[in-house]
Amino acid sequence: MISSQFTKENGGEGFDPEQRVVSSLTIDEDEQENTLRPHTMNEYVGQEKIKKNLEVFISAAKNRGDALDHVLLYGPPGLGKTTLAHVIASELGAQIRVTSGPAIEKAADLASLLTNLERGDILFIDEIHRLNRNIEEVLYPAMEDYSLDFVSGKGPMARSIRLPLKRFTLIGATTRAGMLSSPLRDRFGMMLRLEMYSPEELKRIIIRSAGILGVSIESEAALELAKRSRGTPRIANRLLRRVRDFAQYEGSNVITLAITKKSLELLDVDEIGLDVTDRTVLEAIIDKFGGGPVGLDTLSAATGEEASTIEDVVEPFLIQLGFISRTPRGRMCTPNAYAHLGRKYSE
Ligand code: ADP
Repeated sequence: MISSQFTKENGGEGFDPEQRVVSSLTIDEDEQENTLRPHTMNEYVGQEKIKKNLEVFISAAKNRGDALDHVLLYGPPGLGKTTLAHVIASELGAQIRVTSGPAIEKAADLASLLTNLERGDILFIDEIHRLNRNIEEVLYPAMEDYSLDFVSGKGPMARSIRLPLKRFTLIGATTRAGMLSSPLRDRFGMMLRLEMYSPEELKRIIIRSAGILGVSIESEAALELAKRSRGTPRIANRLLRRVRDFAQYEGSNVITLAITKKSLELLDVDEIGLDVTDRTVLEAIIDKFGGGPVGLDTLSAATGEEASTIEDVVEPFLIQLGFISRTPRGRMCTPNAYAHLGRKYSE
């Protein structure tokens, strides 16, 4: 039975913006993401510059028998930061412990994570920009000198104690490198910015994922999906699963171009990957604010989308497409956006 997710009326997913089919954030159906994750540098598609850099540093660290320098991975959600952290660990033959900024509530939690690390282990902190500032301070000596600083006792009796840690590697991931404090940022030996993927790269990811899912997909269908995936592997994999379900519903054991186009139309994902939310944002800027500039909070109020969703999830792709420009006075729609929506642009 095909579920209501294929209706045009609900944009594929009801109106929960967190559950958009083209959201780059993890949504409920992405639980199987782990099965599609590449494990080695060879399987990890694209990001060639980053991979080259990492290969050099990983092999140098292995030759020295030392821990890899701390790495900060940044870029929009769904581009492969978590995956890359796991790939780095497996290339190093190291253990990886995974946590996230909001999950660490007390400095003592972080201290206990750090003291349990073995030499060469990797500590992966996702959303590191959301780490509380006083917790973050625990990381400074840990990253720089591999030690923890404690204050024991109170008042005149207080003594500072240093506890040595094993040499480990911190991999931080963030969608907002700008929100990191400079003492933290400065302690990363490598800051790597993940780029959006080209349609050809996404096509390779889709064909690989189809193989893992055990479905056949025509080459043109894979490219069509790739073009509508907003440069983001997470979205590519999700659209693939949706189209696979649709193909099954239609009784086809191959994902054809026709099936792909039809199901994406039902999901209301247009030929360049925009959905209702993108169009709502663009139309608000054009119709309510004369094309802009309009501030983020005003835009949020006008569209009913969270400001952070607009900033982290909707906007990066629209900026990449050249549909929105960010100016000191706010967001503006470009003539390209008018053309895509079939509107007349006037200066
Ligand atoms: P992020 O941590 O940046 O939000 P993830 O690492 O969770 O993104 O990636 C989301 C999904 O996209 C993963 O499950 C993985 O299957 C896929 N993916 C990401 N990057 C790549 C890549 N370079 N090659 C193949 N698949 C990828």
